[in-house]
Amino acid sequence: MNERAIKELADLLGPKRFHREEEYLQSYGYDATNTLYLPDAVLLPETTEEVSAIASIATRHAIPLTPRGAGTGQSGGSLPVNRGLLISFTKMDKVLEISPADSLARVQPGVITEEFQRAVERENLFYPPDPASLKNSTLGGNVAENAGGPRCLKYGVTKNYVLGLTAVLPSGEILRTGSRTLKNVVGYDLTSLLVGSEGTLALITEITLKLIPLPESRGVIRLGFPSVKEAVEATVQILGSGVLPSAMEFLDQSALTEVSRFLNIPVPEGTTSLLILELDGRKEAIHADMETLLSLVGPRTTEREFSFDPSQMESLWTMRRQISPTITNLGLHKVNEDIVVPRSRLSEAVEWINGLAKEHDVKVVLFGHIGDGNIHTNFLLRPEQLPLTETLLTALFTKVVSWGGVLSGEHGVGIAKRPYLSLQLSQPEIELMRGVKRVWDPQNLLNPGKIF
Ligand SMILES: Cc1cc2nc3c(=O)[nH]c(=O)nc-3n(C[C@H](O)[C@H](O)[C@H](O)COP(=O)(O)OP(=O)(O)OC[C@H]3O[C@@H](n4cnc5c(N)ncnc54)[C@H](O)[C@@H]3O)c2cc1C
Repeated sequence: MNERAIKELADLLGPKRFHREEEYLQSYGYDATNTLYLPDAVLLPETTEEVSAIASIATRHAIPLTPRGAGTGQSGGSLPVNRGLLISFTKMDKVLEISPADSLARVQPGVITEEFQRAVERENLFYPPDPASLKNSTLGGNVAENAGGPRCLKYGVTKNYVLGLTAVLPSGEILRTGSRTLKNVVGYDLTSLLVGSEGTLALITEITLKLIPLPESRGVIRLGFPSVKEAVEATVQILGSGVLPSAMEFLDQSALTEVSRFLNIPVPEGTTSLLILELDGRKEAIHADMETLLSLVGPRTTEREFSFDPSQMESLWTMRRQISPTITNLGLHKVNEDIVVPRSRLSEAVEWINGLAKEHDVKVVLFGHIGDGNIHTNFLLRPEQLPLTETLLTALFTKVVSWGGVLSGEHGVGIAKRPYLSLQLSQPEIELMRGVKRVWDPQNLLNPGKIF
């Protein structure tokens, strides 16, 4: 960074929001992948106009720009791999409007996901996308990654709720996409293009989100099975029954063993896999649906528990919610993938992945959004096994794609999956995507080094 650019940025933001001190560079130079890339400066803008001014200064001086929400990303998307400016959106954290009449809200990108959900629930409205990181992640990061979560089985992912965006192009130009209406088919859908673009096309400074009515009540069922195969078969049976749970999660035997040891909760005799289902809607309907499900898959189970009480429901969720900290606590190197397979391949996929891990003498823990076919595959490696990473991932992704599945259902490409992109996308697709990137960001200054 040259002295002119430093002075222009310091004059724009002042000493409290323009930082070059080592502790700031360190704090904003990592994400949930636990990798560190130091930026040259950390910027904390508060308005769209400030973001626009930053972008035009960066473009004039050819300085790379990396947007960052809360840094919970699992694919390295917010890491400033080419140094330059790190724009943190944490100070743009206002809910600007909640409109029950239009069933929408307008927010700044730094609003924390869970805080937004609580705010709209006070108006009896509902924003379903619920990444497991929702206590920390930002809505801007959710939009940039098109985040999903357990409830996406019934309600869809983030993109299904984004009606419009305000975004700043690398040139500094301010763009408004979409509308306040539920329907809009005028021109190309630039809003959808920006959702999931991982901060490579524009800087998102305002989001208009669709809201739906808050369901009257919830119920949770936890089912134990004697094998993952039985749990997978029950999943397919449930999803074919006409009852659509709002969430449907699973833990395999390794996940269950580790989490029960970590939390000191005994696993019922004969249980080697868990399904946790949530239902929502009118209370009578949930009761009826629970009865249907229990009579359908009950005979396969080793354990059945259900509740409508908020604290008991939370305790039925505990094992699923605690699986990430449990794995981290094992002290092994975690290679955390979020592949998706067609549901008809789930059983085969679980068996195949376990076989791959066994072949290489590697520990693997499987859990996740089984209803979506989204299996969080965690290879846990000892230090001397680190060189195996590429072999494991190439084999995994190649197999997943051969089943008609995808490399990532939630975490995005970032830098983590960049080497494997061509296993899923054809060369013409990659070239078209590169072409889109060139149109939006001709100097390749916005989040360079990501996706491609
Ligand atoms: C324990 C844990 C559980 C998780 N569970 C889930 C899950 O269930 N589902 C799921 O989908 N993900 C999950 N994630 C991944 C992560 O939380 C999501 O990708 C989340 O959306 C990232 O939000 P963030 O605010 O932390 O963004 P960051 O990590 O800071 O950034 C993510 C990407 O968004 C870009 N970005 C951020 N803000 C903007 C902006 N304003 N304009 C343009 N680009 C921007 C960044 O450049 C980067 O490419 C999990 C992560 C952890 C650590």
